[in-house]
Amino acid sequence: MTSSPTLTFNDGNTIPQLGYGVWQVEDDVAEKVVFQAFQAGFRHIDTAKIYGNESGVGRAIASSGLSPEELFITTKLWNSDQGFESTLTAFEESMERLGLETLDLYLIHWLQPKQDKYVDTWKALVELQKRGRVKSIGVSNFTAEGVQRLIDETGVVPAINQVELHPFFNQAELREFNKSKGILTQAWSPLGQGGELLGDGTITAIADKHGATPAQVVIAWHLAIGNVVIPKSVTESRIRENFEALNITLDATDLEAVNGLDRTAAGTGRIGPDPAVSDFA
Ligand code: NAD
Repeated sequence: MTSSPTLTFNDGNTIPQLGYGVWQVEDDVAEKVVFQAFQAGFRHIDTAKIYGNESGVGRAIASSGLSPEELFITTKLWNSDQGFESTLTAFEESMERLGLETLDLYLIHWLQPKQDKYVDTWKALVELQKRGRVKSIGVSNFTAEGVQRLIDETGVVPAINQVELHPFFNQAELREFNKSKGILTQAWSPLGQGGELLGDGTITAIADKHGATPAQVVIAWHLAIGNVVIPKSVTESRIRENFEALNITLDATDLEAVNGLDRTAAGTGRIGPDPAVSDFA
């Protein structure tokens, strides 16, 4: 069976470049679709406390017959749990739900600039890594300034920064910054949440050329530009289709065309909140 290529973190650990995300998936559905994702070939699962499905993911892991060494599991610390002690507690609660002894990757879910607890929170992640409870630590929805502050105040560079990233919002500047610090970039909503992007004429023309689907073209673009990518679907045929994007190789002309779809300059590319100015409860 095909397996995802891996990328290497600045801490020496590796991550499967193609993973499966479970935002907006009910807990009981998560158990079923994560199992289907394993059957399709995915070994990397992206969840979060706030998704409310860590238990379902845990049940899918337990019934999969796969060993922890074969899997790569990410979860995220929710905003209301930021702070040193509260992070240590929230981590153990997530691990309980997941049914795991050791986590592969723990992320701070959002920067929360006004709350301003992210440096203390990061120190707790560093502590959890020192204790061997989590193999790699990183951030999500962090600006370059936020990442730089973590580095300046703790000396520990995140392994990865998971941010909104798709062809309409390709994060060229932040990807460059991450790369300069040895941080991998991970794309959330990589398919643009399945909206306009998958019907875009440039994407569908490339899909026709390769005998692929639009979703496969977009996933192949992420893989080619070095992103870790975690598309979501709850439809079994699409779960398989998304994994099989590993078999599609885009050429330089295709990549150039997809790069040309970026709407950052027009200010209309972003779907979700801007981490630089967004705080949530
Ligand atoms: P996505 O870009 O992966 O799009 C998912 C949607 O695209 C599906 O619901 C479906 O409608 C459509 N789709 C999927 N496969 C398809 C296919 N083969 N053909 C046609 N349509 C298809 O959106 P997402 O769920 O927002 O993002 C993926 C993952 O990223 C999430 O599940 C979650 O794990 C992560 N995420 C993280 C954050 C964060 O703040 N860190 C935010 C959003 C998402």
